[in-house]
Amino acid sequence: MSFKTQVEKVAQQMQQVGIEYDKLFDNFGIKLYEKLSMKKGSCEQVDIVHKELDEILDAFSLYFPSKSVIACQAKCSSCCSFPIHCPPQTIEHIAKHIETNYSKEEIKNLIVAFHKNIKERKAPYFRATCPFLGEDKCCKIYEQRPLVCRWFTSPDASLCERSIQSGETIPQQQTQHRIYQLANTALVLTSKNKENDNAQVEFIPAILQRLEEEKCEE
Ligand code: SF4
Repeated sequence: MSFKTQVEKVAQQMQQVGIEYDKLFDNFGIKLYEKLSMKKGSCEQVDIVHKELDEILDAFSLYFPSKSVIACQAKCSSCCSFPIHCPPQTIEHIAKHIETNYSKEEIKNLIVAFHKNIKERKAPYFRATCPFLGEDKCCKIYEQRPLVCRWFTSPDASLCERSIQSGETIPQQQTQHRIYQLANTALVLTSKNKENDNAQVEFIPAILQRLEEEKCEE
C-alpha cells in the first residue's frame, strides 16, 4: 500500500470518528428534549437537566479530559456582574427555592436588591453585581444557579475582571459550552411547547417580576 493510500485510509477513519463524536452531542440534545417534553413542571424539568448534565459532563471529563486552561475558582466572581438570560423554567425553579427557604423579611430585602441591580445596569455593557452574590463572594443559590452561570469557563481571570468595564468577550471551554447550550436549548424549546413561551428571559427582572406577583397574591 502506498504511503498516500495509508494516509487516505487513516484520514477516512478519523473523519468517521469525528462524525460519531458529533453524534454524541446531537443524541444528548434530542434525548434530553424528549425527556423534558414528558414533564409538565418547570422545577422537575430543571432537576432532570441538572442530573443529565452531571452524568454527561462526568463521562466527558473521564474519556475526553479537557486540555484547555480554566482559570475559574471559588470566590472569583467577576462574571457575576454580567447580564444573563435563562429559560423561564429556571426562574420558576429559583423562585420556588426562594419562597421555600427565605423568610418574608429576606424576600423583601432581595426585592430591594433586585431593583437596585436593575437601576445600576447602564449601557453599553449593563454590568452590575448579581444580588445573589454574597459578601463572601460565593453564590447564595449555588445549587440552583442558572445554566449560564454553570457553563461559564474563562481561560484568564484578569480578562473577566477587565471585562466588567470593557465588555470584552470571554472565550469559553468549547465542549462544556456546547453541552450546556444543548441543555439550555432543550429547556427553551420545551418551554415553548408547554407554556407557549419561546424565548429566554432576563434573569433578574424575570425573578423580580415573579416574586412581586407572588407578593401581590398574598
Ligand atoms: S446566580 Fe450566582 S453564579 Fe449566577 S451570576 Fe448570580 S451570584 Fe453569580
